Amino acid sequence: MFSRVLTFHLNGIDAVVVDVEVDIREIGLPSFTIVGLAEGAVKESKERVKSALKNLNFNFFAKPITINLAPADIKKEGSHFDLPLAVGLIAASGMITRDLSDIAFLGELSLDGELRGVNGVLPMAITAMKSGIKNLFLPLDNAEEASIVKGVDVYGFKNLSEVISFLLGNMKMEKYNYKNEEIDDLLPTYDVDFSDIKGQFNAKRGAEIASAGMHNLLMIGSPGSGKTMIARRIPTILPKMSLEESIETTKIHSVAGILKDKGRLVRERYFSAIHHTTSDIALIGGTRDARPGAISIATNGVLFLDEFLEFKRSVLEVLRQPMEDGVITVSRANKTVTYPAKFMLVAACNPCPCGFYGDPVKQCVCSEIQIKRYRSRLSGPLMDRIDIHVGVTSLNFNELSEVPKGETSEIIRNRVEKAHKIQSERFKKDKIYFNSQMQEKHIKKYCVLDKESVTLLEKVNTKYNFSARSYSKILKVARTIADLESSENILSKHILEAIKFRINDQWANEL
Ligand SMILES: [Zn+2]
Repeated sequence: MFSRVLTFHLNGIDAVVVDVEVDIREIGLPSFTIVGLAEGAVKESKERVKSALKNLNFNFFAKPITINLAPADIKKEGSHFDLPLAVGLIAASGMITRDLSDIAFLGELSLDGELRGVNGVLPMAITAMKSGIKNLFLPLDNAEEASIVKGVDVYGFKNLSEVISFLLGNMKMEKYNYKNEEIDDLLPTYDVDFSDIKGQFNAKRGAEIASAGMHNLLMIGSPGSGKTMIARRIPTILPKMSLEESIETTKIHSVAGILKDKGRLVRERYFSAIHHTTSDIALIGGTRDARPGAISIATNGVLFLDEFLEFKRSVLEVLRQPMEDGVITVSRANKTVTYPAKFMLVAACNPCPCGFYGDPVKQCVCSEIQIKRYRSRLSGPLMDRIDIHVGVTSLNFNELSEVPKGETSEIIRNRVEKAHKIQSERFKKDKIYFNSQMQEKHIKKYCVLDKESVTLLEKVNTKYNFSARSYSKILKVARTIADLESSENILSKHILEAIKFRINDQWANEL
């Protein structure tokens, strides 16, 4: 007999509907074949399904069985094919007579028929809804996540025999109800806040300006000066995520298997800290099952590179393309997947090899040549994409106890949101969103300077000899500073502050 059961194939963070067609013939030698580009995990599925069904006393494996996964032109990956294969087999054996065309199945089976949760359920539930599939049968573990999607009835099962009993009408079960309706409108909740940081006015200001114009940020300071502490708090001052951003982030985290709270959309901007020993694969993605890497997981959030100068050039090189395109294409064993990779880059480094150049307490022990050589590494393609460099200085004990608590993240975020609004209004027709994305033509149009500012820039330029690149960065950052004040024009004080964030150029004239 023949049966058809619906499931999904996950392609990046989107899913497509897959038909599982099962044919059990009455005559012929025993065989069990899956066709339709089944890859590794799906081939393994065969053994799990066989064992689970045998444990439930289904014995049709003495007959020739063929399973086809359609459409045949895409490779199928993932252990979630277990449940649809098992149900398809039972249906083809003639046991289930109920029409299955309004149900999609997904879930991994253990050898004794228990259902295990899988990754990527949110994208699959969204596809079910978009394709008009009414019901979704899946492991109980995944029910909460799937129930985020409205318009699909979700049923969560503990094991295969429950699914069968339900399909045969021998068991009652209510659809899974979405639990988080009441907290849906709540603001993001972060467990850190900018008010935790005492002092550090300059660094905090740099972080605020960077967030306001979505400029990439480099913090330079001695070990223990608080660079990581500041970086961790940047997501808390970025604007609240839009619904689209929230869905996109949740889909990526679902596919990556890192969703913390499975019953709600992710609302917090993610902070992804990368160590310089992190492998290319962990960074860009493409492990065994082509999962998203750190740069995709950081989408709509912050990617933090600590000890920036310790990173291998090849690793930094890998970041270049996604930073331009906002996506990363991951290839693995003939499979190519594209994931979003839109993040704000925050980097941190020491001012010299020993770490204490310019430190108010500890003495730097580096030679001039060592420092020069160290700083010469602060150049190259990725540095070109960092608009703001800010110095972070250590506070001594006395200072720490005297300084009052800082502003809360919420207060700073309100200013940042206002600046974002000004930019989206300004760039309506330009196909860009933020000051950091301005190209020469935009800079010419939106960064017109008054006479006073021009004179000031010329004067400073004779000292620092800015490159054309530094020059446009100063203008872009000055534009953001002006936006933070809702000032239509860039004034000389905005230029002056923007120059302060060009430590790189200042360093070139030191020593
Ligand atoms: Zn030093």
